[in-house]
Amino acid sequence: MPELPEVEVVRLGLAPAVTGATVTGVTVFDERSLRRHDGSSEDFASRLVGAALAEPRRRGKFLWVPLARLKTPPAGLKTPLAGLKPPPAGLKPPPAGLKTKEFLAVEAPNGVSSGSWAETPSFSDTGRAVSDASVAVSDASAAVSGVGPAESESGPAESDTALVVHLGMSGQVLLREPGAEVGRLTRIQLDIEHPVHGELRVDFVDQRIFGSMALDDLVPTADAPGETVPSQVAHIARDPIDPAFDDDLFFARLAKRNTGVKRAMLDQTLISGIGNIYADEALWAARIHYDQPTGALSRPRAKTLLAEVRLVLGKALAEGGTSFDAQYLNVNGESGYFSHSLNAYGQQGQPCPRCGRPIVREQFMNRGSHFCAHCQRVRAA
Ligand SMILES: [Zn+2]
Repeated sequence: MPELPEVEVVRLGLAPAVTGATVTGVTVFDERSLRRHDGSSEDFASRLVGAALAEPRRRGKFLWVPLARLKTPPAGLKTPLAGLKPPPAGLKPPPAGLKTKEFLAVEAPNGVSSGSWAETPSFSDTGRAVSDASVAVSDASAAVSGVGPAESESGPAESDTALVVHLGMSGQVLLREPGAEVGRLTRIQLDIEHPVHGELRVDFVDQRIFGSMALDDLVPTADAPGETVPSQVAHIARDPIDPAFDDDLFFARLAKRNTGVKRAMLDQTLISGIGNIYADEALWAARIHYDQPTGALSRPRAKTLLAEVRLVLGKALAEGGTSFDAQYLNVNGESGYFSHSLNAYGQQGQPCPRCGRPIVREQFMNRGSHFCAHCQRVRAA
């Protein structure tokens, strides 16, 4: 399942292609992929066509593209929009003359998410993924710190609507050349025209149809004046790599929870963007048992845990996401993650990299918790 780092890789890849582009056509192949859209497919299409797209944003694993001036489209829609950010310097535009433009937004056959334009993945793409990932971090900071089109004085005003993309279990967003064959699993197709890249196609591909696209109202965030989020995302807490994440507020709310620490970490209303894999890895690194009562977790240990969460997410971002294959499910019913860099998750029976005793797996919330029973014990405060 795509988690924060994977979604950030998608956001990063989409940004240069869609920011400033205008939607020229919408095709809905499967209405089930509009399940979160409050309206018909005709409504979805008619409101999107003619809209200009602003820079994609993200909170946790939620991705959205604010629409610029949706309700009063300017006469010269095809004119490049002033004030919108150019593509990040580290991202390559599609090479001229490339015949098969395919954007490997999430996964590549070699297991490395490249997050950049590529005809065929290669080792050079692998190398590029690392440098792109560093762009991802800085770009994400820019996006969430509010230095975007919304606060640009000269740029077009954003409307109060956003295109929300839920990747669900297996969703992918692929950039294609106009006229490219439409895949069997493509559920929604957006035709866009970008002032620099020209005509492109954005294909929403989803095998298992847990994902969706929807138009949603942007509402003010509770803690940052002038910043907006889609209403579907409003109940989601900030994620720990959001510069506006309030550490002290998080520690205070965590201490008041009468629950186990891992359950709290997975609570998207307390902190977003931490899935099962990153929770297990951060808990192992912080030497905290997954069922440690939050009320008995000391402030220093909570600080260590949050720091480890950020390290784990940062590492995954640097690797371009944890490289998952949506077609493959392991025995836990979870996507088949590459495990080369994991210390605890999926490592049951393997020696703990710290003490050598075997990592164990226990049932937890219909999934599993992987931990070292020696290094990670429930403690009194
Ligand atoms: Zn151990």
